[in-house]
Amino acid sequence: MNQILPARFLAVVFETFPKDFMSRAPEDLEEYGKDWTRLYPPAPSAVVFPRTTDEIARFVRLCTEHRIAVVPSGGRTGLAGGAVAVRGEVVLSLSKMNRMDPVDPVAQTVRVQAGAVTEAVHQHCAPHGLIWPVDFAAKGSSHIGGNISTNAGGVRVIQYGSTRQWVLGLQVVTMSGDVLELNGALEKNNTGIDLKHLFIGSEGILGIITEATLKLTRLPGALDLFFFAVEDMAAVLRLFHHVRKAPFGIMAFETMTHNCLEIVTQSLGLKFPVEQRSGAYVLFEAIRPASADAQQIMDGWLEELFEKQLVLDGTLAQSPREARELWMMREGIAESLFKKAFLHKNDVSVPISEQDEFVNRMFRMFSSRHSDLEVYMWGHIGDGNLHINTLMPSGMSRDEFLKRCHDADRDLFTLIQEFHGSISAEHGVGLLKKDALHFSRTPQEIALFKAIKKAFDPEGLLNPGKIF
Ligand SMILES: Cc1cc2nc3c(=O)[nH]c(=O)nc-3n(C[C@H](O)[C@H](O)[C@H](O)COP(=O)(O)OP(=O)(O)OC[C@H]3O[C@@H](n4cnc5c(N)ncnc54)[C@H](O)[C@@H]3O)c2cc1C
Repeated sequence: MNQILPARFLAVVFETFPKDFMSRAPEDLEEYGKDWTRLYPPAPSAVVFPRTTDEIARFVRLCTEHRIAVVPSGGRTGLAGGAVAVRGEVVLSLSKMNRMDPVDPVAQTVRVQAGAVTEAVHQHCAPHGLIWPVDFAAKGSSHIGGNISTNAGGVRVIQYGSTRQWVLGLQVVTMSGDVLELNGALEKNNTGIDLKHLFIGSEGILGIITEATLKLTRLPGALDLFFFAVEDMAAVLRLFHHVRKAPFGIMAFETMTHNCLEIVTQSLGLKFPVEQRSGAYVLFEAIRPASADAQQIMDGWLEELFEKQLVLDGTLAQSPREARELWMMREGIAESLFKKAFLHKNDVSVPISEQDEFVNRMFRMFSSRHSDLEVYMWGHIGDGNLHINTLMPSGMSRDEFLKRCHDADRDLFTLIQEFHGSISAEHGVGLLKKDALHFSRTPQEIALFKAIKKAFDPEGLLNPGKIF
């Protein structure tokens, strides 16, 4: 049901907020009503651009008074339809709230407004030898508030864990207009329930994150980036078992099937990174040991890989430019596939110890029951997270493709359920996965979700219809 903004509501907005606070320009409604899923026709009734927490508190109080639904919006790189406005909601964009306070090099923290862009935070911290270690392809556009609301993962989870590990405190505005300061900059605070964790990963349905105190860590030492060709996905997992025992730290362990590498190299005009065409590839980043015999350690380890035939071919980035190109082959996959044809995405996870069995069963399931759908798989295999995607075959209508994907999803999610996995490892639920939530969450858990939502947003006005 679309909401129409009442004249009395608009009159208060125009009288008490800055001139450029609200936009109803068609291009803004189009732009701010959608996210990266590109699946939902945008239909917000307005977009607001607050500059301060106080403006947000006053605005949402007014919305509650007039029963106006609000969608918090970050960089709109989300892949689950969490930030889309499809029923006339007002989009509340944090894009003008991007202040970053000075880095505290002793506490190793930084307080930023929620609209700070992820990569800008990295750049802000780097001169101090520090990093906020959440890192992924959309970092040039995504916001800290969006990262926190989706508990973003990315390519460094194997070393650092997800966003949740790197947030000390939050400032949040609830729909009643209350401003909550949750945990400030405290490392230790065992005074009951740590409410900030309810906001991390809850996709903007409980409150609007306005500021965050981020925990930082030292930039890692020298990194070596390898690209390996291996026979198939089973070989990727064998290599992973071996890498886990390596005498150095692992910064990233990413994989992709051959069809992904073929499309991304073509689309980005990049040279195929290895001689050998094979079933699967691994992008592996190692933290070089600080010891004097580091080179010897790495050389010995590499020799063993080939001796044990764990890899068929490989290359080591020899310069920052080569490293960037290899990363583009991993990070450019989604965009390259999107360009080729309509893409159906899944982002799932299973326990790391069961990945081998899961991957095996998943491919068998597709070839026996959905052989007309070709699987394009890539992911952060080091943390059990796989992106399982299918491209619309040429000659198939979009409706037919979606119907077949829906059938395949049911089988995939049933398999995920059997493995006690997650139907959404890092992208969230939003609108896209809410009908499948029951594959990963019990009725009791969903009832608790609803009770928590009611406690923070009794009128159901904040990001309505998302997650459940
Ligand atoms: C090419 C590409 C690669 C990606 N790779 C990864 C990856 O490796 N790992 C990963 O985890 N994700 C990945 N993503 C998904 C996406 O970038 C992340 O989910 C990111 O954290 C979203 O941030 P955002 O600012 O764009 O949020 P948005 O898309 O704007 O919003 C996401 C959700 O957060 C809510 N929200 C946003 N800001 C606030 C706020 N201040 N307060 C309350 N709620 C808020 C929105 O309502 C919505 O529900 C990728 C996306 C793309 C396009």
